[in-house]
Amino acid sequence: SQGLTSDSDDNDKFEWESDGEAAPSSAPTLRNLDAPGPSTLVRQNSNGWANGEATSTSLVEEYVTMGFPKDMVVKGIKEIGHNDVNALLELLLTYKALGDEGALGDCSTSGCACPNVQDDDDDDLDSDNWDNDNDTGGREHNSDSSGDEDFLKEMSAKDEKINLLVDMGFSEDEANMAMTTCGVDADLCVLVDSISASRVAGDCHSRNLFDDQVMDRCFDSFGEREKARLMEERKKKRKRYGGGSHGNRSSLDGSDDEQMHLPNPMVGFNLPGYRRPSVMRMLPQQAIGPPFFYYENVARTPRGVWETISRFLYDIEPEFVDSMHLSAAARKRGYIHNLPIENRSPLLPLPPKTIFEAFPHYKKWWPSWDPRRQLNCLQTTVASAKTTERIQCLLARSSNPPPPSVQKYVIDECRKWNLVWVGKNKVAPLEPNEVEYLLGFPRDHTRGVGKTERYKSLGNSFHVDTVAYHLSVLRDMFPNGVSVLSLFTGIGGGEVALHRLGIHMRAVVSVEIGEANRRILRGWWDQTQTGTLIEVADVKSLTPDIIASYVGRFGGFDLVIGGSPCNNLAGSNRHHRDGLEGEQSSLFYHYFRILDVVKSAMARM
Ligand code: SAH
Repeated sequence: SQGLTSDSDDNDKFEWESDGEAAPSSAPTLRNLDAPGPSTLVRQNSNGWANGEATSTSLVEEYVTMGFPKDMVVKGIKEIGHNDVNALLELLLTYKALGDEGALGDCSTSGCACPNVQDDDDDDLDSDNWDNDNDTGGREHNSDSSGDEDFLKEMSAKDEKINLLVDMGFSEDEANMAMTTCGVDADLCVLVDSISASRVAGDCHSRNLFDDQVMDRCFDSFGEREKARLMEERKKKRKRYGGGSHGNRSSLDGSDDEQMHLPNPMVGFNLPGYRRPSVMRMLPQQAIGPPFFYYENVARTPRGVWETISRFLYDIEPEFVDSMHLSAAARKRGYIHNLPIENRSPLLPLPPKTIFEAFPHYKKWWPSWDPRRQLNCLQTTVASAKTTERIQCLLARSSNPPPPSVQKYVIDECRKWNLVWVGKNKVAPLEPNEVEYLLGFPRDHTRGVGKTERYKSLGNSFHVDTVAYHLSVLRDMFPNGVSVLSLFTGIGGGEVALHRLGIHMRAVVSVEIGEANRRILRGWWDQTQTGTLIEVADVKSLTPDIIASYVGRFGGFDLVIGGSPCNNLAGSNRHHRDGLEGEQSSLFYHYFRILDVVKSAMARM
């Protein structure tokens, strides 16, 4: 389950992963708003982690770069704050429309929708400002600047603290609440104390409590006995897990709340062509198959999520891999599985690792000042025409090469939206078939459903080559093919991986709620496979009896594979990033539940 948006909710707009920049230099803003405006609250440094450097001053500058006068931006922020990027932009555009019509210049005559920056008498809109970008002093001589500066300073300090708190794993709401309670000037440790205190006071963020709530929700339909059994098992696991096998855990609020260490480089236990001492691992006894299982989710989650997932999945250590080591696009994922890790082999030929290897024709229009050679994580949504038009318009009005401020703005946008150069000054999102190619799917795999749907399903899917590398060990073990229980199948990344490995699928029971996805899988299956495909819509409908009947019918499953939705986990989804207890992400527990039933049923065989 990848960029893991879910199905059809509007939250998609926010589904941006903070997933890896392929190139380290500039810092993309992180909100997944295809709004024509910058955001500041969360930025990434070169390691991809948010840092505290995003100041309101830079927010103002970003809007100034877009052509809004500084006074106007400050006024707007004073009026409605800066948290709602869309609202702020709308307000600025309204100001413009109301009072500034003449000052806009002749944008319309040049066919541009973006705020004009050159044809204007106003100092703040003067084209000279573009060249002054690195010289912040150049723009700081407003008439009543002193009041504004104080205001900005205070806001910056607040932003910075909120960023730090969010970095530490608290939610933005908690951070804001603490700021309100303790004041903007409060020390960081005071703020942390305040949050911890409110958590301990019975707030639902207490992990143990939420585990129970989620379990309740998940197991309601399966009767008290099954629930009691699983709860008991979980208690044991929690005990075992707390026993120190994973090192120290800090406990601000009494729960085990330490971020799982993400390796750098993120190459998992091993990767083709990546030389490093091979990892040895011993699986806990109850983790050993049959069946083999393979669970996937985004690498970056709120704190504690991977710990919880690991705890449920027999304490197996996740294998974190950034597919950028095996492809031209980044994709940071964690995998928990009980497969052997020796003697893996990659799909051949190895996929292209740079943009130009993948798409040589883009070289022609790639400007020398765009340093990207790899793409960021392929997302579930793409930039709007507004975004690409704005870039084209800005570049058309700039010198060649454009001034640093324009370069930075354009490259940030390109990174954020994975834009490629398709013409003079012209950027565009990748086409769905290009995304299919980068992710290792056959051409036109998702064709036949709407374009938006295609991007969404592709954005959520496995990177086939990465998964195939992990699954490659099955080839020699199952010369007669495998029977697979495929949960959250999506467009069948796992199935395509097995097929490309030359592993015959005797039977696949696929569980996928999206109708379009089921159609895509069925279409591909009928064209390429001879085995049996059974399609089920909802993991919640798989009762123990139904699972047991499939186990009987297919003589057990050789592989239980799936990645549950991550909408409430993905890094950029700050607003709905509530961790595993989120509506969608809690589906993880069904993965565990179903696997557990399969294991018991197979043990009885
Ligand atoms: N690994 C898949 C994608 C997983 S994304 C691939 O390679 O394409 C998670 C998937 O879970 C999405 O396709 C989503 O539609 C599906 N899903 C969400 N809720 C579900 C539910 N209740 N039952 C089954 N599938 C569900």
